[in-house]
Amino acid sequence: MNRTLHIESGNSGPKVLLLAGVHGDEYEPIVALMELAEELAGVIHRGSVLIDPLVNAGAYEAVSRFGADGLDLARVCAGSADGSPTEQAAYRVSERIKNADVVIDLHTGGMAFDIYPLAGYMLHPNASVLEQQRQLALSTGMPLLWGTDHRPDGRTLSVARDADIPAIYLEYGGGSGFRKHVAEHYKEAVKRILAQLNMLRSDGMNIPQWKYWLEDYRTDSGYLQSRMPAPVSGMFVPDVAVGDWALAGQRFGCIIDPYTRSKHELFVEEAGLVFLLQQRVSVQKGDALGGIMNVTLNEKISIDNGEGSNH
Ligand SMILES: [Zn+2]
Repeated sequence: MNRTLHIESGNSGPKVLLLAGVHGDEYEPIVALMELAEELAGVIHRGSVLIDPLVNAGAYEAVSRFGADGLDLARVCAGSADGSPTEQAAYRVSERIKNADVVIDLHTGGMAFDIYPLAGYMLHPNASVLEQQRQLALSTGMPLLWGTDHRPDGRTLSVARDADIPAIYLEYGGGSGFRKHVAEHYKEAVKRILAQLNMLRSDGMNIPQWKYWLEDYRTDSGYLQSRMPAPVSGMFVPDVAVGDWALAGQRFGCIIDPYTRSKHELFVEEAGLVFLLQQRVSVQKGDALGGIMNVTLNEKISIDNGEGSNH
């Protein structure tokens, strides 16, 4: 079943691909794109917008980041036309990405994480593509801009990277329950991008200034699932919230074992923005508990890969 929605202006211009539902437990982007399909009809005056609001239906049906085949679509792109269900969905979306001029992929932290609102992009080796990605990220008005290692494969952004197509992803919120403000924020962010591309009238639209901007060239700098691994299993009781500024040495939270009543305290190693926080109370040893980003308010920071190479 083809669930994609196509908005054609009738005039030449960029083909923008909007994606949601790569992960099946990230609902606000799905709703935002379905609503946008209605709001944008008839008002796009240049180019076209192709909307795929449910990239991996199998993961949605499984109420999970993963499909019923156990695969994460964001690790198996460009997929396979005759593979497992997730591989086939990855193949379909990868073909759409290759036919687009601009790709925007919307996410949340899913059931597991709450995430500070951010626009992310790969630090593309092609300077022109990288600059277009920076401009797309800037135009979203998201408060955190995050450029990371361009080398990971399997992502939607990896497919775009290999085809030199500018692509960004957005992250915001997560946890249980629907957060309407996240869906509304995403609709505004997409409209700002389309206005910036001169596809949509920008009357009365303003772009909030970013607060934090990090370009981190280190290996796997964009990988979220490995941050602050839980040292023990138990109930995670955080002392911080997403968006807090954490100080070095401050308590981040603790893990309580209800059997032994032992309490394992966790402390912040390096000061920074709490941009990621585990939302499940019951955690297993090794689960990521959260992430602190070493950023500075209103200052763009670049971290090189430590290999002494130029970028
Ligand atoms: Zn996701």
